[in-house]
Amino acid sequence: MARKTNPKLIDSHVHSDDSRLSDDFPAVMARARAAGVIGQVIPAVTREHWPRIKEYVAKHKDLYACYGLHPCFMAQHQAEDLQTLPLWLGKERPVAVGECGLDYSLADVNKSEQQTFFGAQLAMAREFRLPIVVHAHRAVEDVIRLIKASGHNRGMVHSFNGSLQQAHRLIDLGFMMSFGGAATYERATKLRAVFEALPLDSILLETDAPDQPDATHAKQRNEPAYLFDVWEALSELRIETANKVAKTTTTNAKRLFGI
Ligand SMILES: [Zn+2]
Repeated sequence: MARKTNPKLIDSHVHSDDSRLSDDFPAVMARARAAGVIGQVIPAVTREHWPRIKEYVAKHKDLYACYGLHPCFMAQHQAEDLQTLPLWLGKERPVAVGECGLDYSLADVNKSEQQTFFGAQLAMAREFRLPIVVHAHRAVEDVIRLIKASGHNRGMVHSFNGSLQQAHRLIDLGFMMSFGGAATYERATKLRAVFEALPLDSILLETDAPDQPDATHAKQRNEPAYLFDVWEALSELRIETANKVAKTTTTNAKRLFGI
């Protein structure tokens, strides 16, 4: 099949500041731009990442910052980080709060501690009128419950892996669902069925690089240029044309993040 050409894509979730991408970062950026990736939204995982992401977005007009505290790194977070975060949000004006959320797949998971951090970040997103970038792993029900309780109504669930019914409840709460490499594997039948059935104006595309490579790059280091392959593979599942999928998901990302 001929390669589709010239999409304009936004990688709605990519850890471009990860050290696994820093050795050849200029080449990573050049390949992403050549592949049609016109923007990359970079979520933070710990407080240590905030100044680094700030530097990256200052240097590149097509990179956009999020600041937050990721549930998989609870051991590295301090209670005072929740005091510092709103200062960063007020001063740096990122495009979103995150990455935050709940992950119950971890060993020795402390659910109430994770919920405290997520709830606090939902409240900040609401206060600063920013969208929130949510990580929800084996915890979609609690994520929905906490979003509802917060009254916040703008955000995205990255690498969505819940049911169609859960996706619709999240859409009703003002959220978009983001899909990446995981949905490109044929064995991911449930996830692919969800992607196929959702309204296109609720869908975002992401790589989550350097993790979660798509099927054509299985077991390799993922990078933002591979968003092209995610788009190409996932477009096949939709009734709309690939160009329409590119256009609409890019418009969605611009609308959500105000970029
Ligand atoms: Zn992430």
